[in-house]
Amino acid sequence: MSEEKKCSGNCESCASKGKENCALEACLGRIRHKIVVMSGKGGVGKSTVAANLACALALSGYRVGLLDADVHGPSIPGMLHLENLQLEASGSGRILPPEAAGIKVMSIGFLLEHADDPVVWRGPMKIGVLQQLFTEVEWGELDYMVIDCPPGTGDEPLTICQMVKDSGSAVIVTTPQKIASSDVSKSVNFCRQMQFPVTGLIENMSSFVCPKCGEITEIFSSGGGEKLAASYGIAFLGKLPIDPEVCRGGDEGKPFAYHRADTPVGKAFAAAVEKIEQVLA
Ligand code: ADP
Repeated sequence: MSEEKKCSGNCESCASKGKENCALEACLGRIRHKIVVMSGKGGVGKSTVAANLACALALSGYRVGLLDADVHGPSIPGMLHLENLQLEASGSGRILPPEAAGIKVMSIGFLLEHADDPVVWRGPMKIGVLQQLFTEVEWGELDYMVIDCPPGTGDEPLTICQMVKDSGSAVIVTTPQKIASSDVSKSVNFCRQMQFPVTGLIENMSSFVCPKCGEITEIFSSGGGEKLAASYGIAFLGKLPIDPEVCRGGDEGKPFAYHRADTPVGKAFAAAVEKIEQVLA
């Protein structure tokens, strides 16, 4: 019998740790690996990487959840075509996470009346909600939970890393320009300060592949991510080219790694999964 079923909300551990902490521990105990996708700044493709990585893990046969922890700017529902949903509850009263591309998904975006409604919450409120996104959702047993954190080192990544510290690790997303290296440093140093392991670095928008002739143009300086990963002694999980189809897939709610798994970008995500497996083995 799983730990979660053993806890009736009134067990010995509830009494010593508090009900919320006991419920969180039970939920997290059923998820083997938690991968926190983070970046030093916005717009580098962090949510795109989180959604596609989750799809690539599911395609490799794993049971996968995707938690959108970007409370103020949830973009995962749109990227997986899960807008305007009516959420359902399980027999135990928890939310049943909607599924797309073989993954269970939860986002604060599902709970907003209108997608354009702003979320105006201070830190303590956000911390409580993030905890509920674990405990009030019927995640069940999972091999991987991919967590899309907002950029930077604020309340959300801090809370999430503290919550999942026992079996969590970070995937840092960056772009190849030299100027991005200071953002990566911040994310790496944040993880070090938190004693949170880093699984590796992914370089997004590394080059442009012309959709007409296939010519590869290095728009930014190249190889920055790989050198940076080596300088920090962390794994380099791969380079993802800029591909207009990736952007279109995101806008249309069709994750590229799932719908176009046989393309260079789709294969790059599959290769990133293999490296993650090696690092976490
Ligand atoms: P972040 O989460 O870092 O703010 P997003 O994942 O929302 O960034 O990506 C920002 C925009 O860039 C989105 O429109 C997304 O579709 C696009 N994008 C991300 N990666 C790529 C890529 N490799 N090729 C083309 N467009 C991309």
